[in-house]
Amino acid sequence: MKSEHEIIEEMQQVVEQMRLDDLEDNPDIAEEYFDCDCCGEHKCLAGSIEYEGYRLCNDCVLIAETGFALGKIKSVQELIDAVEDKNLEKLCEYLRQEQQREKN
Ligand SMILES: [Zn+2]
Repeated sequence: MKSEHEIIEEMQQVVEQMRLDDLEDNPDIAEEYFDCDCCGEHKCLAGSIEYEGYRLCNDCVLIAETGFALGKIKSVQELIDAVEDKNLEKLCEYLRQEQQREKN
């Protein structure tokens, strides 16, 4: 049984690798931007993923994948709803705390 922070660390590596793979396959993607359906920010296409018709930036992919892995969310729709309700901040805060704990 993996601890939550091991899962988070693993997800950070997986999601970062997706971004690097995208850039390797298509270096031009570094200059391509889109509006993320989750955070609403203008983000680089590299490392973005489309789920259930929503395109998420690499940062939101990390939140989504970590959320799935930890059983905090069951679908991207749930994540999008959480963002609208501002509940996402709790998950982000949680991730930050976990990252902080790793450094100590
Ligand atoms: Zn985003």
